[in-house]
Amino acid sequence: MLDSYAEDVGFDRELLDAAIADFRLTPRGTANFQKRWRRNDGMTPGGRKITLSVHFINGDASLHRNVQRYSNNWLSGALGTKLQFKFGVRQSQSQIAIHFGPGGNKSLVGRESANVAPHSATMNLESQDERAVTHEFGHALGLSHEHQNPSVPIVWNKPAVIRDMAREGWSRRDCEENIFNKFGRDYECVRSGAFDVRSVMLYPIPSHWTLNGFSSTLNSRISPNDRDCVVGLYTPP
Ligand SMILES: [Zn+2]
Repeated sequence: MLDSYAEDVGFDRELLDAAIADFRLTPRGTANFQKRWRRNDGMTPGGRKITLSVHFINGDASLHRNVQRYSNNWLSGALGTKLQFKFGVRQSQSQIAIHFGPGGNKSLVGRESANVAPHSATMNLESQDERAVTHEFGHALGLSHEHQNPSVPIVWNKPAVIRDMAREGWSRRDCEENIFNKFGRDYECVRSGAFDVRSVMLYPIPSHWTLNGFSSTLNSRISPNDRDCVVGLYTPP
């Protein structure tokens, strides 16, 4: 894994080992790094920027414009020097394929999309507001849920969460996998590992879901920490 990562970023193995020691990454590298897009992925392999192509399976022009506008917010900072989106390409050439309609808001995480069948959606958008599009594109870039951050300060009231989410059709296992399970330290953002209550990758959490007074609102905007995290993901250590 590390060797392929070193090769991917064009990095000397010794320098990489030193960087890993600095960032206290595990020997197998971070899950973030595993899921990030690589220099040779996309429409401009080996180029200065990674170009991720987006195919719209359905939806009208105004929906497509919304998606472009909100997803491009991720690129307005330093990430824009490393990565760009190209919209409206054929599905056979796309890395991200979006279906609009029922099925919830969900997306594969980063490079997981590289392995799906050519005619499958990699992202579903049931709603197309800023929060939904920004959050799902965070996944598409390689980010995971902030409430599963290894440093998350939440003590869950699990029966309350499971009861509420059952009404949304979620099983206990869905709750375990998407809400309660904490990631290992190998998932920590390289540049900003602390838990971020303003992250767009955090679920809105009502106070009756927790036993220690924690609650959070629905974050619709990319937080400074989100930006640091995703820039760290695409910056060789
Ligand atoms: Zn999510």
